[in-house]
Amino acid sequence: MEQTTLHDVEPSDYDVIIAGSGAGGLLTALALTANGKRVLVVEKESCLGGVWHGYWVDGFRVDHGLHVITRVTRGAFTRFMRTYLPTLPRFVLHEGWYFRVHDRVGTIPTSVGQTLQWPLTGLRGRLGLARIGAKIKTMKLEEMKRYKDITFLEFMKRNNATNQVILDVMQSAIYMAAGVGIDEASAYEALRTLKDTDKESSKLETIKKLLFGSTEYDEGYVIGGMQYLVEEVVKAINGAYLLNAPVRRITERDGRVRSITVGDTVIEHDCVVSNIPLWEMPRIVDSDRQETIDFFKRWSHMRITRGVTLWLGLDEVVVGDRKSRVIVHPTPNRWIVSVSSFDPSCAPAGKELVAIAMIAMEGKTLDEQVDMMKSNGLEKYHPEILEHIEMEHAQISYATRAALVPGQTDLDRPGPRTPVAGLYIVGTDTAGSGVGLQQAANSAQGVIQEILSHESPSL
Ligand SMILES: Cc1cc2nc3c(=O)[nH]c(=O)nc-3n(C[C@H](O)[C@H](O)[C@H](O)COP(=O)(O)OP(=O)(O)OC[C@H]3O[C@@H](n4cnc5c(N)ncnc54)[C@H](O)[C@@H]3O)c2cc1C
Repeated sequence: MEQTTLHDVEPSDYDVIIAGSGAGGLLTALALTANGKRVLVVEKESCLGGVWHGYWVDGFRVDHGLHVITRVTRGAFTRFMRTYLPTLPRFVLHEGWYFRVHDRVGTIPTSVGQTLQWPLTGLRGRLGLARIGAKIKTMKLEEMKRYKDITFLEFMKRNNATNQVILDVMQSAIYMAAGVGIDEASAYEALRTLKDTDKESSKLETIKKLLFGSTEYDEGYVIGGMQYLVEEVVKAINGAYLLNAPVRRITERDGRVRSITVGDTVIEHDCVVSNIPLWEMPRIVDSDRQETIDFFKRWSHMRITRGVTLWLGLDEVVVGDRKSRVIVHPTPNRWIVSVSSFDPSCAPAGKELVAIAMIAMEGKTLDEQVDMMKSNGLEKYHPEILEHIEMEHAQISYATRAALVPGQTDLDRPGPRTPVAGLYIVGTDTAGSGVGLQQAANSAQGVIQEILSHESPSL
C-alpha cells in the first residue's frame, strides 16, 4: 500500500474505503487484499496503526503500550498474520506470569497438584482455589454466558470464593485483560480469560489439564516490535492510504452509504468500513433516518479502558528474563516486562528496555502516576531497575475501546453491520471476543464475512 494525496484519489480505483487505520482497519484491509479487493485507507493522524505502533526514543524502540500478544499460537491475530502475510513474524513466548504478593512470588497454578502447593496462600486458601479453579476450567462457554451481566467479584462471592489473596491475584490478572477491576469486569469475560480459550475442550482434555497442568505459554512478543508488524501488514495491502486526512462525514441517503467527506473533499463510494471509535460516529454519520441516528447514538456510550506505560531504558541488563511480573501489592498493581529480553534489537547492545504498565488512575496526572509506578512497590522489590535508568518515557492512552464490563461484553456489541447498507464498523468497541489485537482481528473477521457475503453492489 502506498501513500497518496486527496487530489489523486480516483474513487473507482477502490473496492472499499476504510476510514481509520487502527488494527481493526488495517487487518480488514489485509484480508480484503487476499480476497482480490483494492482499498483506500483514510487516516486522520500522521502515521498508520492507531494505538498500534512503535517509535524510537533516545536509541530505544518503544511500542505504544506494553504489547504482549496473547494466544500467539492459536489466536485470531496470529491467524491473520499466518494467513495473509508472505512470512509469519517471529514471536518469542514469555516464561509465564509471576505474581508478587508482599514477599511471596507464585505463578498461576495450572493443575490441582500445583494449586495445593501454591505459595501465595495457606492450606484453606489453596483448597478454595482448587475448588473454584476446577469449576472455571470445566465450565462450558454456554454457562459462562449466563454471567455476562454480573461482575466477576459477584461471581466469586456467589461461589464462596472470597479468600483475599486469591481475589487480589485475580484482580491483577483481570485488570490486564479487561482494563477494569474485578468489581467492574463482566464475569463472563473474566471467566473466558481465566479458562483461556474460546473453544470448548473435551471432558478428557479438561480432566488431563486439571490433573497434570499445562506448561504451554501462549503469550509473547514479536521480533521487531509493533512497528514492524504494522509495516509488514501495510506492505501486504493492495491499495493506497491518506494521512492527516480526517473523515468529517459519512453520508447515507435512501438507506445506503453514498460518500465520505475528507476535509472539504467528498469522495463518492458505496462501500465504507469505519474504524473510527463509536463514540465519534454520531457527529460523523450524516443520515436523515431515525434508525441510523439512534443506532450510532446508542453505541456511542461505550466505556473505554485507559493504560499508562512507563518505558525505562537501562544502562545495563538488570532484569534479563522473559517473565511477566506483576506486583499485586501495594495497589495499584503493575506489570513489568523486560522487552529487550525478547527482542534485543529494541535496545543498544548491553543495555535493557523494560516496560511497566498499569491501568490509568482517575483524577491523577501522568506525572503523579509515573511517580507511583516508580516508587510504590518498585523501590522495595526492584530497586536495581531504578538505579540504572538512562531513558524514561511515559505514555497514556486507551488500550481497547470497550472495557469488558457488563453491558459491553462481546455479546453486547453491535457487530460489523449498521442500519446503513454498505457501511460496516470495525474496531475493539464494535465486536469480537478477546482483548486488544485479538479483538481487533476478530472484529475484522466479522466485517470481511459480511462484506464478502452480500450487500455492496460493487462487491
Ligand atoms: C497501553 C496499551 C497496551 C496494549 N497492550 C496490548 C497487549 O498487550 N496485547 C494486545 O493484543 N493488544 C494490546 N493493546 C491493544 C491494541 O493495540 C488495541 O486494542 C488495538 O490496536 C485497537 O485497534 P482498533 O481497531 O480498535 O483501533 P484504534 O487504534 O482505536 O484506531 C482507530 C483509528 O481511527 C483513526 N481515526 C479516528 N477518527 C478518525 C477520523 N475522523 N478520520 C480518520 N481516521 C480517524 C485513529 O486515528 C486511529 O488510527 C494495547 C494498547 C495500548 C494503547
